[in-house]
Amino acid sequence: MRKTKIVVTIGPASSNAVTVRALVDLVDVFRINFSHGDRDSHRMEIQTIRAEAKARGKSVAILQDLPGPKIRVGKMMGGSATLAQGSTVVLDASEAEGDSKRIPVGYPPLLESVKRGDMLHLADGVIRLRVEDASHGSVACTVQAGGVLSSGKGINAPGVKLKVEYPTKNDVSHIQFGLRQHVDFVAASFVRSASDLRSIRRLLPRDGPMLIAKIEKMEAVKEFDAILAEADGIMVARGDLGIEVPIETVPEIQKKIITKCNDAAKPVIVATQMLLSMVSSPVPSRAEVTDVSTAIIEGTDAVMLSDETTVGKYPVEAAKMLDRIARTTEKSPHAYEVPAITPAAHETGPAIARAACRLADYVGAKAIVAPTQTGSTARRVSMNRPRQPILAICSSAQVARWLCLYRGVVSIVTRQAKTVDWLFGRADAAAEEVGLAKKGDLIVVISGTPGVKGTTNLIKVSVVGRKD
Ligand code: PEP
Repeated sequence: MRKTKIVVTIGPASSNAVTVRALVDLVDVFRINFSHGDRDSHRMEIQTIRAEAKARGKSVAILQDLPGPKIRVGKMMGGSATLAQGSTVVLDASEAEGDSKRIPVGYPPLLESVKRGDMLHLADGVIRLRVEDASHGSVACTVQAGGVLSSGKGINAPGVKLKVEYPTKNDVSHIQFGLRQHVDFVAASFVRSASDLRSIRRLLPRDGPMLIAKIEKMEAVKEFDAILAEADGIMVARGDLGIEVPIETVPEIQKKIITKCNDAAKPVIVATQMLLSMVSSPVPSRAEVTDVSTAIIEGTDAVMLSDETTVGKYPVEAAKMLDRIARTTEKSPHAYEVPAITPAAHETGPAIARAACRLADYVGAKAIVAPTQTGSTARRVSMNRPRQPILAICSSAQVARWLCLYRGVVSIVTRQAKTVDWLFGRADAAAEEVGLAKKGDLIVVISGTPGVKGTTNLIKVSVVGRKD
């Protein structure tokens, strides 16, 4: 069993039923990027994923990624223009199509917020403009690094404080749509503070989707602890992050974020450019393979593909490659370095979870089985990064889908336990059913009192198939 979770983004290269069918076997979470496509295409993608997952009897989750207040270039004449290094270009809010001398910006506050000397990064940082003059609603810039600029490309203004509404009206409407589609995760883009995240949380029902904060702005890096406290999970969104902060600081930020998420028992996804060369090549670069493996050794729960599966020529091969790298990396002893945290004495649940992982090592257990009502017992075990697979026995399909993002957890759905005896018997049978253990093997069962939500207070070492 692979422990690291795989998230793939669905797009034109992968949304057809044949590709989704091939991906379902490899993927734990399908990401739908609401920055692209329309309602009909999103609805179709969700239907296809669910139909294929059902046909394969697999629990997969859907992550709705909101666009957030991303500033974009308006329409360019003929779709694109080439900006020459050293030339002057003017940005304004006019809706007329742009060219190599004028770029329409669909977000007027940007034009009012920049000043001479500020840098603007366009098209994922490929094009760099230096602001020379900002007055009367237009901004004159020198092109420091030129290139081809297409309609709709992103604009980043690192270090510029922008007045943005959060969430945007567009995000609110997407959230309402996502709730109607019962998405499992909502990812909030360009959050700057815990308060940004709370303003999205207010729109989600209590038992609704888990809220993932995308870390892609300097402000979010600075406010990370408060954001983590508010979030259900984190995405290291390295695409925009690598533009908003000095690119060479991204590895250190990634490492710190992963460690903090592990300590907080909250899932973390490392995203963007993991196997980028596979957009056009059937094999990745050695550096990309090392990047994926490093993220796993650092303790990430999940790795993610974007362009590789949305517009790439090899979407299934890219997912297979992640699978291969993860399985191989997980054989390394470095992949099981337990976070240094020690649960506070009064925290029974985390302490029992940690003890269960130690016990599993002592007795050579084949699996740690966690019957769980809310998912919390499985989450507590997962944060200890045990060598053994974690089998979550869930009484709800929704909890099983949330657990798709937690490292090492595989789930089955069954009826809710009424008694401890039933629960232990079910744990044995389930471990055998999913092929994690056979008769005579030892498993460690960890649970809470049946019917009491959020408790973790029982451990049993069980010999599969033996009633005692
Ligand atoms: C990123 O910037 O890395 C990211 C995942 O966000 P998006 O793909 O929405 O730009």
